[in-house]
Amino acid sequence: MPEGALLIDCGGSPVQKLRRAGVDPQALVSVVITHIHPDHVYGLPALVRNLAVLGRQAPLTIHCRPEHVEPLRSLLSLFSTLERPGMFALTVRAIGLAEDAHAFDLGPLSVRTSPNEHGAMPNFAVRVDATRGRSVVYSSDTRPCDAVVALARGADTLVHDATYSERDRGRAGGHAHSTAEEAGEVAARAGVRRLILTHIGAEYHDEVDALAEEARKRFAGEVEIARELVPYPL
Ligand SMILES: [Zn+2]
Ligand SMILES: [Zn+2]
Repeated sequence: MPEGALLIDCGGSPVQKLRRAGVDPQALVSVVITHIHPDHVYGLPALVRNLAVLGRQAPLTIHCRPEHVEPLRSLLSLFSTLERPGMFALTVRAIGLAEDAHAFDLGPLSVRTSPNEHGAMPNFAVRVDATRGRSVVYSSDTRPCDAVVALARGADTLVHDATYSERDRGRAGGHAHSTAEEAGEVAARAGVRRLILTHIGAEYHDEVDALAEEARKRFAGEVEIARELVPYPL
């Protein structure tokens, strides 16, 4: 079983950010792309290109939904990063779409997925279990849904979409994302220990503490706002 690092979704400057987070980019074995909205995938061509320039030889596998295999191959081809002479082996592989489907193992980590509900965009949530019994679940972008509750059941940490405040629940995007309060409700139903709110809309960046309070109305466990490049030991 391969050992190494796993990246879930890929925003800008991935190699620089991995390094600043204390992760050797060449330790990456798998990249999971939950869906193909730009904020989750635009750094992927740069990641592949930079790894090649850095002399990578080891293969890399990108895991995504079946309907995103071709779009991701097109994205990589556009930047001539899918196949180059002498480049490491790059595979784009479809996950299963069943709930709680096993995707792959990586060293002590077992990765499972469930489709979530992100409006018209096919998407999925990811659960990573370590053999020590600790686990983290990432909802990706989604409205509150039973599939994420089930996937997150009993997990240590749930990282959940909290794009909106409850006061803006009715806004157009509200059917494809969650409010902080809804994230709290999912965390409570799943029985996790800790909820980390992420994907917070830019208009709330001055009031993230209020969003955490909103989640605490529904969830009695620990609530945090996601911080960039900060380690969260399991
Ligand atoms: Zn999205
Ligand atoms: Zn997003």
